Amino acid sequence: MILGQQSGFTKFPCFLCFWDSRDRSNHYTKTEWPARDSIQTGFHNVICEPLVEPSKILLPPLRIKLGLMKQLVKALDKERQCFAYLVKKFPALSRAKIKEGVFDGPQIRTLLSDNLFLDTLNKNEPAAWLSFKKVVENFLGNHKSENYRELMADLLRNYEKLGCLMSNKVHFLHSHLDYFPLNRGDYSEEQGERFHQDMKGMEKRYRGVWNIIMMADYCWTLKRESTDNNNDKKRKRNPLHRSLEDERVRKSRLS
Ligand SMILES: [Zn+2]
Repeated sequence: MILGQQSGFTKFPCFLCFWDSRDRSNHYTKTEWPARDSIQTGFHNVICEPLVEPSKILLPPLRIKLGLMKQLVKALDKERQCFAYLVKKFPALSRAKIKEGVFDGPQIRTLLSDNLFLDTLNKNEPAAWLSFKKVVENFLGNHKSENYRELMADLLRNYEKLGCLMSNKVHFLHSHLDYFPLNRGDYSEEQGERFHQDMKGMEKRYRGVWNIIMMADYCWTLKRESTDNNNDKKRKRNPLHRSLEDERVRKSRLS
């Protein structure tokens, strides 16, 4: 991780404070957690020095949106109509991914504009879904409404009622909402989207194995692209440049 934090289900995943991810009973009630004044290697889930100062970390709205969607879908009743509707609506997504709430930006947009989905929800689900929709439209895009704090408070209340577990991203909205305005300028969702799509491609190519070679490969793809642009070729970006892994597979087939 960019912050040199341990991966997996860590006790202190937040880089700004000591939010205890395992202390579920306090998640939606306690907003103030002791601040991290330094990031010390070897302590509190920090495995190495961060590459970037915490004050310079950007929190891309797309990631927050994906995170909110994930927690919401995970809390939906899997035995009911709403889950069957999602399976039917997104045939390319596996049941496991839907169950885990793994959707991308375009899929979330599709669902947000689909009023039939709302009809499949019941009890506390519609309120949570509608508040998610409001937060996406009024806070996570480039337009931020005056009443965003209210919208966020509604969302958190409705998520809690629905039984959504608090993830790191939900915690950010709960405890560090002030961190956002300083961090956000005009943001092109396309950038975040492209990174997400590229990573999906890479993941497929490397068969789900995340390693240094894959990251290096990705960085080279970006570097090649920026060199192309500097040379003013304005070539359309080809996300399927032959990767090191493809090359390795190709060579092993030839030999
Ligand atoms: Zn925190």
